[in-house]
Amino acid sequence: MNSEILVCIICPKACILNIEMENEKIISILGNKCKRGVDYAEKELTNPERALSSTVLIKGGVLPLLPVRSSKALPKDSLIKVMEVIDKTEVVAPVKIGDIIVKNVSNLGVDIIASRSMRKVI
Ligand code: SF4
Repeated sequence: MNSEILVCIICPKACILNIEMENEKIISILGNKCKRGVDYAEKELTNPERALSSTVLIKGGVLPLLPVRSSKALPKDSLIKVMEVIDKTEVVAPVKIGDIIVKNVSNLGVDIIASRSMRKVI
């Protein structure tokens, strides 16, 4: 039997979760103030995911960088690979909020989308 300690990041209460595991299976979770803490711990220990926010270069825009984000959470172990794609991406103004900047990034079923609109410099 081994133990893990996680801080639940689902809400500002930040409960400290004490998790007992055996053969990579969760035996018990203590410290959560609601069921969402259990769901968070199970996900975090089996298939952790993170939403990703970054910027890409934009040509002809009023600013040199366009804020972007993932359309949904990505597997945590894919973030470096996705950032490599984002780093090489360049778009041309104008862009509307929600436009798809990279479709199905790294074949993960998640798009990288514009977090804001950016008009063209006149
Ligand atoms: S366990 Fe529930 S109350 Fe505690 S931080 Fe997570 S979501 Fe918030």
